Amino acid sequence: MPVARLRPISRHIAAVDLHDRFQVAAFLVRHEGGLALVDAGFPGWQYAILTAAESLPQPNRITHIILTNADADHIGGASGVAAHTGATILSSSAERPFIEGQSLASSARGILSRIARQLNQWFVRRRVPPTHVSATLEEGDQVCGLRVLAVPGHSPGQIALAHDEDGVLLCADAFFNVDGRAGHDPVPGMTWDRAAARRSLERIASLGFRDLVPSHGPALLGDGPDRIRRFLDSAG
Ligand SMILES: [Zn+2]
Repeated sequence: MPVARLRPISRHIAAVDLHDRFQVAAFLVRHEGGLALVDAGFPGWQYAILTAAESLPQPNRITHIILTNADADHIGGASGVAAHTGATILSSSAERPFIEGQSLASSARGILSRIARQLNQWFVRRRVPPTHVSATLEEGDQVCGLRVLAVPGHSPGQIALAHDEDGVLLCADAFFNVDGRAGHDPVPGMTWDRAAARRSLERIASLGFRDLVPSHGPALLGDGPDRIRRFLDSAG
């Protein structure tokens, strides 16, 4: 079982770093009625997330679970957290069928992506317990102090979540920061549509948020847009 470490991001947001073979974070976001959980790590990681939430001052019940994309390292613990807390599971409508089990392989753009997605479905995704999305979110929706932005590319319905009061953007897998260089998913083929991913990154860099927080690797605090533009320039 992974050990969770809380990493403060801003006034309302803490990352739950779930260390395993990969750097994977979930996020606890304080709101009026308790906590929202953004993503839920790999299957079985609900225990570490619940322990992290319980270590925070009350009210610390997780009331909402917002899933940014359907990958196993984002949704694995969601049904377990929901069973324990009664939290509502939310996602974009475009991502919902993939969260609920549909394979991304058939719709992936390019042969490499199709193969990578098929292998992922066989070896990783099938370990995820059944996960039911209770309600869907769309661009511009507000939930628990977070504003929903569509950032497709890594997956068709991926969302980012802006905390306008804290000036922080939770970017999900719109970029990774695992090798000291902010960029696309380092696992070949795991980006569903690279052109869409690039457009989403251009959008993220132009929104005015200085603090950009990926789900994998350290946050870009203060210089987020510059780092993203540097990557886009180097990627051509
Ligand atoms: Zn991920």
